Amino acid sequence: MSTDADQREQRHRARMQRKKAAVDAGIARADRDQGLLLVLTGNGKGKSSSAFGMVARALGHGLHVGVAQFVKGRSDTGEEGFFRRQPGITWHVLGEGFTWETQDLARDTETAQRAWAVARGMLRDERLHLVVLDELAYPLRYGWLDSAAVLDDLAARPPMQHAVLTGRGMPDALVAAADTVSELRDVKHAFRAGVRAQVGIDL
Ligand code: ATP
Ligand code: MG
Repeated sequence: MSTDADQREQRHRARMQRKKAAVDAGIARADRDQGLLLVLTGNGKGKSSSAFGMVARALGHGLHVGVAQFVKGRSDTGEEGFFRRQPGITWHVLGEGFTWETQDLARDTETAQRAWAVARGMLRDERLHLVVLDELAYPLRYGWLDSAAVLDDLAARPPMQHAVLTGRGMPDALVAAADTVSELRDVKHAFRAGVRAQVGIDL
């Protein structure tokens, strides 16, 4: 005699079996390795910190990582302080000199081109397993870097090298070229309630 509880148990088992079959089939289908292009964009918090989470993962596996930060203002971030001390990492801060206040396009373009030359060097370095281009959206959005040229260099990187690009308003061409794209949605941010950037959380 089967009780309601037995029937529920049976239905549950059958459902879980179907789910397992679907999951296993999905895992079996994903059988390739390749260097990935990842984009983290959107207005919500979590783009750069997600990228640095992958840096920690990669270093934890003994991989070699290059980071280039396309930031304007220099603030001493916890991630820079921490990761610079680790073996296996190369860290460049490339934004110093961007002058959006003065709107000197020629000068900013020149600064951005010099910065990109450093990034391109990392994208050509066979030893680097992962390259993070943090806030790359920023010089692209202002037109200081040309998306097409950036895409060419990304496409020419070693086949097994992963690249992570972060920044609000990532141009469509880069989103289209990426293998994995996440858009961080701004649901709430404490800044708007008057809380300044907090050490260990925001920098
Ligand atoms: P994080 O480095 O914390 O992952 P992020 O890379 O997603 O943030 P950015 O656009 O690079 O965000 O901005 C960096 C700083 O701005 C961080 O201090 C972050 O907390 C803050 N920030 C991120 N999203 C918002 C938002 N929607 N409103 C206000 N401040 C934000
Ligand atoms: Mg960021």
